[in-house]
Amino acid sequence: MNDVFKKALPVLQKLTAAGFEAYFVGGSVRDYLLNRTISDVDIATSAFPEEVKMIFPATYDTGIAHGTVTVRENKENYEVTTFRTEGAYEDYRRPSEVTFIRSLEEDLLRRDFTMNAIAMDENFELHDPFSGQISIQKKEIKAVGKAFERFHEDALRMMRAVRFLSQLDFYLEEETATALQKHIDLLKHTSVERITVEWVKMIKGPALKRAMELLLKVEMESFLPGLKGEKVALEQFASWDWENRTTEVAIWLGLAIAVKPSNITTFLKAWKLPNKTVQLVNKTYSYALTNKQDWSKEELYHAGITAFSLVDEINSIRFGESQLELLHKAYQALPIHSKKELAITGADILNWSGKQAGPWMKETLDKIEQAVILKEINNEKNAIKRWLGYHEE
Ligand code: ATP
Ligand code: MG
Repeated sequence: MNDVFKKALPVLQKLTAAGFEAYFVGGSVRDYLLNRTISDVDIATSAFPEEVKMIFPATYDTGIAHGTVTVRENKENYEVTTFRTEGAYEDYRRPSEVTFIRSLEEDLLRRDFTMNAIAMDENFELHDPFSGQISIQKKEIKAVGKAFERFHEDALRMMRAVRFLSQLDFYLEEETATALQKHIDLLKHTSVERITVEWVKMIKGPALKRAMELLLKVEMESFLPGLKGEKVALEQFASWDWENRTTEVAIWLGLAIAVKPSNITTFLKAWKLPNKTVQLVNKTYSYALTNKQDWSKEELYHAGITAFSLVDEINSIRFGESQLELLHKAYQALPIHSKKELAITGADILNWSGKQAGPWMKETLDKIEQAVILKEINNEKNAIKRWLGYHEE
């Protein structure tokens, strides 16, 4: 049995020893059956959150309202979620309330796709009431129950379907595909944060091109921030060589390059991205847009490692060529890497000139900085003093 499950086994055993049911569920069981690397192991149990907390000494209330308690075991964190049903759905979003239950099968019933509704117990026996294993064999993404009802309950599932298609290189089962086509406009009710998570996973998937074809066929892009009417840009974007190792910020830089929005910040903020990402894309956008191959010393200096590495990453995704090693060498060879490394300070200049501080000071420092970067002067106090026209001591 897979080591990840073996390591997590004591969590199941402790729950069952206390008289509850407990299973591995969701993505980890699916990925195990697919022979894929298992990321996080989710556990479902008949124990209610308070009961889970009594069994394990170290727990965190991560999503207690939804029945999820994080359990620390064997130096790992595990999300343990109480079996639940989801009550009425409001506005096609998440359910307004969850009800904890004691039945595994009912818990599996609320899950999105048959392949994600398989449970595995402590003896590694599978509980698969919706024939998820057959779906996995057929490489099909099939809603649990009636697809259109499931998409009405939570429209994000439509986006998840396309993301799984990309990630697993699967195909949509017929009824699920029809429901997706018919009800795509429900996606307008879904929160951007949840859409963004699925989008990133979709881009990293090996079957992105096929996923994008489907996405565009059902016009899902109309409900994604800033992408309405961007079919051509998205086709171009999907033709690039995205891979699993792609950094997230490269995805956003790439999207900006493909779409060329009139305002990058507004475009990125609509996806609710962290400020750091927005800033870095802003900083690198114009460099990346010119398909930059040759960097001047000044450009390397002002961009800095993070930015030129990102531009190189997007270039290699777009054109299959990286020159990161050369860029690093050229960067390392710069005489300084920030103003702080200059051999003089503002105080020296005040001292030499006898003048009052003022805006001229920054201009002078900028001039010196540039001359040092371009190796017009050595980064030495006396050399700089001479270059400024003051007498050496
Ligand atoms: P990944 O490998 O990307 O983590 P995953 O299947 O584990 O894929 P998660 O988003 O981590 O996906 O969700 C864990 C499980 O919770 C899913 O396998 C599925 O059973 C259930 N699930 C998640 N989101 C939904 C949803 N919107 N509707 C119904 N069930 C869901
Ligand atoms: Mg998961």
